[in-house]
Amino acid sequence: MSLDLQNSEVSFALHAVCAAGKLAETIQTNMTVTGVEKKDLSPVTIADFSCQAIVAKAMNTELKGAVLVGEEDSGLLQEDGQAEVMKLVTEYVQHVYPDATPDAVCHWIDTGNAQSCERFWTLDPIDGTKGYLRGEQYAVALALIENGQVILGALACPNLGLDASPGVAEEGTVLIAQRGKGCWRGLMSNPEQLEQVHVSDCSEIEKARLLRSVESGHTNTGTMGEIVTALNIEADPVCLDSQAKYAVLACGGGEALLRLLSASRPDYREMIWDQAAGSIVIEEAGGRITDLSGKALDFGQGTTLANNRGVCASNGLVHDALLKALAEHA
Ligand code: AMP
Ligand code: MG
Repeated sequence: MSLDLQNSEVSFALHAVCAAGKLAETIQTNMTVTGVEKKDLSPVTIADFSCQAIVAKAMNTELKGAVLVGEEDSGLLQEDGQAEVMKLVTEYVQHVYPDATPDAVCHWIDTGNAQSCERFWTLDPIDGTKGYLRGEQYAVALALIENGQVILGALACPNLGLDASPGVAEEGTVLIAQRGKGCWRGLMSNPEQLEQVHVSDCSEIEKARLLRSVESGHTNTGTMGEIVTALNIEADPVCLDSQAKYAVLACGGGEALLRLLSASRPDYREMIWDQAAGSIVIEEAGGRITDLSGKALDFGQGTTLANNRGVCASNGLVHDALLKALAEHA
């Protein structure tokens, strides 16, 4: 079993997330972080637009006819009073495409804003915006979906190290998974030098390291506590932003991952770009991912996982124990 790096889609996904991850790092280094809540001129806004623009432009050039459903559209950039944002985004896109103009940048962002269809890509240019602003974990997430199933996924995690621990690393990691071909990992600085990764072989639920969102509003900490108690899980949950959680699980740095529904948003449905790349990374590393009731994730329902509630992911070995506790507590 080996990844097909000669395949144009595989090669594109690997290099595109690395290029976007590096641009996000550059923006973070150059811009002063002004506050987590501030939209427009914050580095995360600049990075979101810039990264979607360069991935969409590369896709237009390298994969003719490809359809991209990205999280962003250029609407905000074109509003009155956003000239400074537009200027900064254009300047950062010029780091990769020196001839980029504001019009071209808006056009590229919006070519990445198509409708989902039978075969399409989905992109989260900066997943984990709060983590990005805090200088902690975030990810560029890109996946290819065919007939409602993820068939290829790539995650660039600029602050995640090869030890797959939540702490901020010097060098970022990239993961790529192709259906039936395993999950592979390398350094963002040398993405073609890949090693295969596997989930942890820990089968004792008490010993499981449980991964959850940092933002308490993106989960349910009360129910999480009940599940930890019911399953006698010894360690406190590990908090990380973004699909870097999925990368950690795939590399054996944790055994379980729960996205519970927050009490304030019980009807929340996951966005496809928040789950697609991470889900195939986990499955191809030998893990399992379902919703909170054990149903397979259905990526064929537009931009949300409308048929699913939350997410339960694991190394596979502790999955049934998690689902049993979820049935009783969530
Ligand atoms: P995390 O880094 O695990 O906190 O997840 C980040 C993602 O959570 C973002 O990309 C959002 O799309 C998504 N999100 C936003 N609101 C909610 C919510 N109420 N419940 C769950 N996820 C959410
Ligand atoms: Mg996201």
